[in-house]
Amino acid sequence: MGVPAVKHASVPGQLLMVGFGSIGQAVLPLLLRHLVLRPDQISIITAGDTGRDIAREFGIEWQLQPITEANYLAVLTPRLRAGDFLLNLSVDVSSVALMALCRQRGALYLDTCIEPWAGAYTDPKRSLSQRSNYALREEALALGQGQPDQPTAILTQGANPGLISSFLKQALLQLAQDSGRLTPVPLRPQGWAWLAQDLGVRVIHIAERDSQITDQPKSRDEFVNTWSVAGFIAEGLQPAELGWGSHERHWPADAHRHGFGCDAAIYLARPGLATRVRSWTPMEGAYQGFLVTHGESISMADHLSLHEQERLLYRPTVHYVYQPCDDALLSIHELAGKNWHPQSGQRILRDDIVQGTDELGVLLMGHARGVYWFGSRLSNRQARELAPFNSATSLQVAAGVLAGVVWALQHPRAGVLEPEDLNHEFVLAVAQPYLGELLGVYGDWTPLTNRRSLFNEALDLSDPWQFNNMRVP
Ligand code: NAD
Repeated sequence: MGVPAVKHASVPGQLLMVGFGSIGQAVLPLLLRHLVLRPDQISIITAGDTGRDIAREFGIEWQLQPITEANYLAVLTPRLRAGDFLLNLSVDVSSVALMALCRQRGALYLDTCIEPWAGAYTDPKRSLSQRSNYALREEALALGQGQPDQPTAILTQGANPGLISSFLKQALLQLAQDSGRLTPVPLRPQGWAWLAQDLGVRVIHIAERDSQITDQPKSRDEFVNTWSVAGFIAEGLQPAELGWGSHERHWPADAHRHGFGCDAAIYLARPGLATRVRSWTPMEGAYQGFLVTHGESISMADHLSLHEQERLLYRPTVHYVYQPCDDALLSIHELAGKNWHPQSGQRILRDDIVQGTDELGVLLMGHARGVYWFGSRLSNRQARELAPFNSATSLQVAAGVLAGVVWALQHPRAGVLEPEDLNHEFVLAVAQPYLGELLGVYGDWTPLTNRRSLFNEALDLSDPWQFNNMRVP
């Protein structure tokens, strides 16, 4: 069952894609289907061989040219003019540097995560705070401060970060309606924080279970995943980060504040891939996932903070709980055993996936109705029917990218934006045809369910929604 080729916007100039890995290839057919855009308006700059055949099939210019701090101005400046669009879907290329260049050239910009130059995520000479997504976000947002009338640059608009912020708004509205509250869609950004506070939301998990499996399982000394292996290892070795809720009473022993910026999030002195937390999705039920740092843990917590003068009145705890596909789980186990020294082989699953689903949503907790998960449930089979060069995981991301690109084209002078700044109804309307089932499910799970039966764990029974109850010791 195909998606009708509705054209949402037209690209006035050239569209330059930096990076053409699993996400770049996934996005391309959606851009061609839903934008007024000819293949001769698109060009690709990349650092690896992947996707060359696909570019050739569409008649798109494809150039092998790794972008570095030393060459980016020389390579990219002549290729960017007013009305052009730079889509940054690479790893190892600084988002902030490319954003600044786009602004200077009058070009639009979008990425799916705030990426530093190669090596910065794991450079031991940088402090843990400097290696965090919190620091990258502060640097990127500083570019836009006080300057709204600039070419639009949308940060972190994939699936998560990205679409998930629209899921959150939809989930809050649905929870309000189901709780008998007559709530209009908030018009001001702070309205979402008031709504979350009013509903009693204390914790928000980005709860994702990827159950896709392949008929060619992981080999020894190989890291296998359903999206960028380089990207996943890099973010997994950043310190674990989470938005820190105003209800939290127990400060984790290895937690730190950054001491600058919005102060909405903290970091733990350990990698996300070594930090397990408990959560719940409707299909999987209770599970343990990794608290890998993600932009949305910080941006959602910041956008949902309420202050009176300097005093924090309300903020939910927000973090990712990722159970990647089974081959990635085995890969992480092997990686940890080698003390985080990456395997010599890497593989991204796509055409060899034989079954499975990516279940990605927000889980709202602490309110009167138990837990409420809202998100996308997309099987690999559905994804294949909807668009070529995709798995369930990549299509959720590509749908978020498409919505962001369309939004930017329709609002070309909106300055620096995060997913929370976009109109969620618009984003969901563009993305939904690619999301499989978009659904909300209530549950009665709590992080205390079935605990203490074998060992006498130290739990705070007075408030199940404490981070320390979620964390796996
Ligand atoms: P990938 O590893 O499959 O591809 C990365 C691409 O970047 C490749 O084409 C590679 O050649 C290119 N590249 C690497 N170094 C480069 C350089 N110096 N100059 C130019 N190109 C370079 O990764 P992917 O799965 O396609 O992911 C791309 C980006 O999207 C990553 O930053 C990843 O973290 C992000 N991502 C975001 C989401 C989300 O939901 N927000 C989800 C998945 C991936």
